[in-house]
Amino acid sequence: MNTIAEDSQHQTVIFGGGLAGLSAGFSLARAGRPVAVFEGDSEVGGLSRTIRRGDFRFDLGGHRFLTSNEQTEQFVKDLLKGEFLTVPRKSKIYMNRKFFDYPLKPANALLGLGIPTTMRAMFDYGKEKIRRSVKKPACISLEDWVVAHFGRTLFNIYFKDYSEKVWGLQCGRISEEWVSKRIEGLSLGVAMKNAFFKFSGQSVQTLIDKFIYPPLGIGQISDRLKEGIEKDNKVLTDTRIARIHHKDFIVNNVIARNCESVYDVHGSEFVSSIPVTALLKMLTPHPPDDITEAASKLKYRDLVIVTLMLDKERVTDLTWLYLPEKDMPLGRIHEPNNWSPHMSPQGKTSIVAEYFCFKEDGIWKATDEELASITVKQLEKLGLINMNDVIDNCILRVPNAYPVFEVGYNEYYSKVVDYLQRFKNLHLIGRSGMFRYYNMDRAIETGLEAAERILRKNKAEPADLRRPAESYKFLQ
Ligand SMILES: Cc1cc2nc3c(=O)[nH]c(=O)nc-3n(C[C@H](O)[C@H](O)[C@H](O)COP(=O)(O)OP(=O)(O)OC[C@H]3O[C@@H](n4cnc5c(N)ncnc54)[C@H](O)[C@@H]3O)c2cc1C
Repeated sequence: MNTIAEDSQHQTVIFGGGLAGLSAGFSLARAGRPVAVFEGDSEVGGLSRTIRRGDFRFDLGGHRFLTSNEQTEQFVKDLLKGEFLTVPRKSKIYMNRKFFDYPLKPANALLGLGIPTTMRAMFDYGKEKIRRSVKKPACISLEDWVVAHFGRTLFNIYFKDYSEKVWGLQCGRISEEWVSKRIEGLSLGVAMKNAFFKFSGQSVQTLIDKFIYPPLGIGQISDRLKEGIEKDNKVLTDTRIARIHHKDFIVNNVIARNCESVYDVHGSEFVSSIPVTALLKMLTPHPPDDITEAASKLKYRDLVIVTLMLDKERVTDLTWLYLPEKDMPLGRIHEPNNWSPHMSPQGKTSIVAEYFCFKEDGIWKATDEELASITVKQLEKLGLINMNDVIDNCILRVPNAYPVFEVGYNEYYSKVVDYLQRFKNLHLIGRSGMFRYYNMDRAIETGLEAAERILRKNKAEPADLRRPAESYKFLQ
């Protein structure tokens, strides 16, 4: 048995090599600070990685990069060294056995619903608008918020089924916080302007119709960050953080493992982008019971990704196709070739289907053969493919894809965060790490912000405090 080795006191140890962890590592490494990144998966990128299967590439659900922060946009463009595509967004939603433009385009959507439903939708919308002008409604759930802003008819048509599919909860149990932040400012009025005029300038993010995409998939952003860190530092993949030793709210060291070795890693600052619920379980000694109890109430939604490789040039011209219908188990599809022509070999294409689920659900537990077969049948039913076109498939199960904002979650969340914030050298970042519905831009920003906090904190240190290249040592 090896003894625990002495180690550098000046390095920052980063848990998780998704965009948040890598951005923190990149920024610190660029400032000449020693960092060590530990990623449990075999590749970096986390939810924003690109999978390669033969000559096909695909993201875990298409990832478009969008931000309203110019600095973040420039950071990503610099990383990609100008090599990116600007992709037009064109999405549809399949409801009542018809395809509609998505997001809301009233000219198409309302008329497609037929005159009586359109009249009812307009009446409900007007009624709620008047009601809101008299008294601001108290909104607790997604259902409350959407009905108050769009009316019951549009809620039933556009929001109910898809939201329930994504979250696995009734809309009355999904916190309004999720929907109000996501479609803040999106009123039917704005949507109408968008439908009839070219809407630009200070537009709402969900309506923006162009986005940046790297030619070889979204994972190129993470790959560039990793390269930047690895000039002087290590990014260890296939290596999981397993235990976090602390005393008096200061983290001293962590134990990380892979199938060959156990590492005892020392550092001065620790940055975590791993799910906050998992982080709490690793703390040694354990947190008080009330904190563990609060954390057990926080849930993540999981995802199954089924990709079908096809001997066909193209299936759709869409960015995404949303599938809220209750009798269809899949929630959304995308065709990577419509994001970049380099995602499939010439003359071939692929379709990526997303199934939102919990690990206890049948979809998560189904065999790969069953999942491939369900997906083929669903896509045939939509008239998109023929089973003879399918030349290969790839099934991936993605845990902790979405933090679940169930009504009342905030009470438990605040308790957990208040406790973790007492740690003087532990920084929470990223989507799962902060239990926030962050997109890539915010995940990157939280990593950069943590790096900045660390650099400010350690400003007084002399610049020659660099650690030797190998500062984490083997335990066995
Ligand atoms: C289906 C889907 C579609 C999306 N589409 C978009 C989009 O179009 N645009 C957009 O901007 N955003 C999109 N997002 C959100 C985007 O994926 C996230 O915002 C971003 O990837 C979060 O990065 P992160 O580093 O915070 O977290 P993660 O990517 O979750 O990274 C955390 C990392 O920690 C690792 N880890 C976990 N436990 C351990 C451990 N014990 N030890 C070591 N490592 C560990 C994980 O393997 C993972 O790599 C989408 C998300 C999903 C699920």
